[in-house]
Amino acid sequence: MSAVRDVLILGSGAAGYTAAIYAARAERKPLLIGGPQPGGQLTITSDVENYPGFREAILGPELMERMRDQAMRFGAEMVWQSAERVDLSRRPFTVWADGKEYKGRTLIVATGASAKLIGLANETKLLGQGVSACATCDGFFFRNQKVIVVGGGDTAMEEATYLTRYCSEVVVVHRRDTLRASKIMQERAQANPKIRFIWDSEVIDILDVAQSKVTAARLRNLKTGAETEMPIDGVFVAIGHQPNTEFLGGQLPMDPRGYLLATPGSTRTAIPGVFAAGDVVDAVYRQAATAAGMGCMAAIDAEHFLAAEGAGGHADAATADAAHAAAPRT
Ligand code: NAP
Repeated sequence: MSAVRDVLILGSGAAGYTAAIYAARAERKPLLIGGPQPGGQLTITSDVENYPGFREAILGPELMERMRDQAMRFGAEMVWQSAERVDLSRRPFTVWADGKEYKGRTLIVATGASAKLIGLANETKLLGQGVSACATCDGFFFRNQKVIVVGGGDTAMEEATYLTRYCSEVVVVHRRDTLRASKIMQERAQANPKIRFIWDSEVIDILDVAQSKVTAARLRNLKTGAETEMPIDGVFVAIGHQPNTEFLGGQLPMDPRGYLLATPGSTRTAIPGVFAAGDVVDAVYRQAATAAGMGCMAAIDAEHFLAAEGAGGHADAATADAAHAAAPRT
């Protein structure tokens, strides 16, 4: 693995896999370093109804398996390690993952984002003991129980709706009185008789660490200041995501939230030869379809970079794909 790769890809979500498909088809023999959650965030979601090409919903994990297999079919290599550190100060770029060293003439960072937590001490202590950030992973354990979902976005609505398969009651606690979620997701959740909403409120504590399980949550009404304790069996935190950029050690420019910055209309970062795609660079759209699109762009940008550097390969393959994609269809 010490050979210098034309294309190193970090991350195995929709962006990373799509970059691998394109780079492999361009015969760049990419190496993809999969990260701690092979398949990325879509592996912890249930039905994906808005990824084009699937008339019926497809399960997130299955969609990701298909993308992985598609990339492997064209010769992409994958290792299931997590990038811990990089050196982008000289070329080839170096990535250290689980103690191993990898080198690439280009690097595509597609490490995505991870679920955020509220930041309560007891929330961390009770993670896996009644506190979760993934309904599809843990919902099963709450059969006939009552749970809280924190948040007002699409993730919260999706998690709440999913949890009604198992739970007797799902209480959505949102800090405002309007939801951020898309209309269709709001309507679906609001029409579900098992879902109840508590507005203008935040979870300020989760009990009971002494029993190693969730027994109650303390809520505060942000308008009145009133605090209440609600008996509950589980708390699902669905308040958004944090880009996975810490391992870069500040070597690439980021916004204050840690999202990578790329030249608008491309995946180029401030360092020539380093490209960024998917949720790690996208605080706005954050969709499987947009991540896949950016993965495609990154592979094409990397191909153009390598071709301009005279690094051989099959520039025509990716360029042809780009031209093909750009051509109007009749
Ligand atoms: P989001 O849209 O950023 O929503 C986060 C929610 O959590 C907001 O309602 C926010 O409240 C709340 N929140 C944030 N920090 C909080 C805190 N510390 N305490 C309490 N509440 C807090 O994130 P998301 O729901 O994960 O969605 C991310 C993106 O993925 C969106 O573009 C979404 O459309 C997409 N997505 C799509 C689907 C789908 O279509 N199937 C499913 C999931 C996600 P405020 O509203 O007050 O800011």
